[in-house]
Amino acid sequence: MNTVTHRIGGKPWNGESARSGDVYDPATGQVTSRVDFADESVVDDAVATAAEAFASWRNASLAQRSNVMFAFRELLNARKGDLAAIVTAEHGKVLSDAAGEVQRALEAVEFACGIPHLLKGGFSENASTRVDVYSIQQPLGVVGVISPFNFPAMVPLWFVPNAIACGNAVVLKPSEKDPSAANFIAELFAEAGLPDGVLNVVHGDKVAVDRILAHPDVKAVSFVGSTPIARYVYETGTRHGKRVQALGGAKNHMVVLPDADLDLAADAAVSAGFGSAGERCMAISVVVAVDPVGDELVAKIVDRVRVLHVGDGRRPGCEMGPLVTGAHRDRVLSYVDAGRSEGASLVVDGRSHAIDGAAEGFWLGPTLFDHVGTEMSIYRDEIFGPVLSVLRVATYDDALEVVNANPYGNGTAIFTNDGGAARRFQNEVEVGMVGVNVPIPVPVAYYSFGGWKDSLFGDSHAYGPEGVHFFTRTKVVTGRWLDPSHGGVNLGFPQNT
Ligand code: NAD
Repeated sequence: MNTVTHRIGGKPWNGESARSGDVYDPATGQVTSRVDFADESVVDDAVATAAEAFASWRNASLAQRSNVMFAFRELLNARKGDLAAIVTAEHGKVLSDAAGEVQRALEAVEFACGIPHLLKGGFSENASTRVDVYSIQQPLGVVGVISPFNFPAMVPLWFVPNAIACGNAVVLKPSEKDPSAANFIAELFAEAGLPDGVLNVVHGDKVAVDRILAHPDVKAVSFVGSTPIARYVYETGTRHGKRVQALGGAKNHMVVLPDADLDLAADAAVSAGFGSAGERCMAISVVVAVDPVGDELVAKIVDRVRVLHVGDGRRPGCEMGPLVTGAHRDRVLSYVDAGRSEGASLVVDGRSHAIDGAAEGFWLGPTLFDHVGTEMSIYRDEIFGPVLSVLRVATYDDALEVVNANPYGNGTAIFTNDGGAARRFQNEVEVGMVGVNVPIPVPVAYYSFGGWKDSLFGDSHAYGPEGVHFFTRTKVVTGRWLDPSHGGVNLGFPQNT
């Protein structure tokens, strides 16, 4: 059996792990690897290695850092098919989805290639007589990155390129459910010329996370995962004096106004609701149909859902794969029962959808509920699976009230042909990322990604300019030099300036 182990100081760890976990191929239900779980001493080793590497990496020239990033970009581009295959093998999403994930990761790398420009400070000549003031952006030191299962390549690459381009050293703790992508990324960085120890990967669970959060030499933590763990990571990390950005879960609404193009809206609801089996933090999980579009919109969604090709993501033509583990599939299944007993109409039952894959895979077909109420658990909870709810409301104002009353605020979308209504929505909605006739409004890499309310703890969004801000601290220098034209004599300087 293949073993996935830590990478510390540029090489695989060679110790004996007391604890480990199973890694599955979700399309077959088979265990394909074991992943070592780090105890505290492994995390301590990784942090010490990173701290040693940081001492020289922080002084690497901007040219050297951007050269590494450009080389990494070329390698990743050349090997993107391999990385996508690793993602599909352990996560289950279809290959085209995995390729899309790697493409978005590449964009974040490309942003970090511009680090010399991004780290330019400000300069004020003669702030006082012959006194200049300037600012510099310096790295923090060792930073931790803790990532979720659903984007095992993209989410680490939201953070790692900016962190190391800014001069930090990183300890990455990916999800234990699909750990291999992180090691592949670390190997490519080594090949790109990143010095040993600047990027380390430790695998594991809460034990590793808790040690990263408490370790005195870890200066900052970027976390992505579910809301309860994000809140815990934020509170624990900040209590230990660290800078923390913790991105949490979501319940994303798509509002469809009466004047919307309903074919466009139905296509969007299906791709954003069931793509990646609904295991996306920007998935649409609630369609809010404003009267009178409900019946027609639901009929169009049903037509599309019934013909979705669900199966092994490696098979050509498959549009939706399995869920990541059997336990997660069972949890999502429990919501199909809950929705029925709570009184929602089960319009499409994913349990009877045809599956193009091995019987033991972690399958659940696309499931659609209509007439969902905000008091139901299928509305309140983040299900994180292929279950889409339709909620019917009378007016735009009712729709806005529903979206704003929800505790999550990651993404949302409005479908309309009325520019005024769209503009009003973008102004009034309390959500961090808003789409207008775009169902999954993930910002491009030169903006930053982040939700509001329970979808993000901390004040910096991920990647883009806010990522550079998060991974650096500002120093302001106030300098006075004697003027050689006055023989180096300090003539006429005012005191107390
Ligand atoms: P998760 O919270 O279970 O795990 C995330 C990370 O935390 C993993 O590395 C895991 O090992 C670790 N972890 C799990 N339990 C822990 C505990 N008790 N203490 C300390 N660490 C712990 O999330 P997941 O199931 O891997 O990912 C899915 C979740 O992530 C969904 O809620 C989804 O919405 C969210 N997500 C959010 C975003 C975003 O940008 N806001 C992006 C992707 C995923």
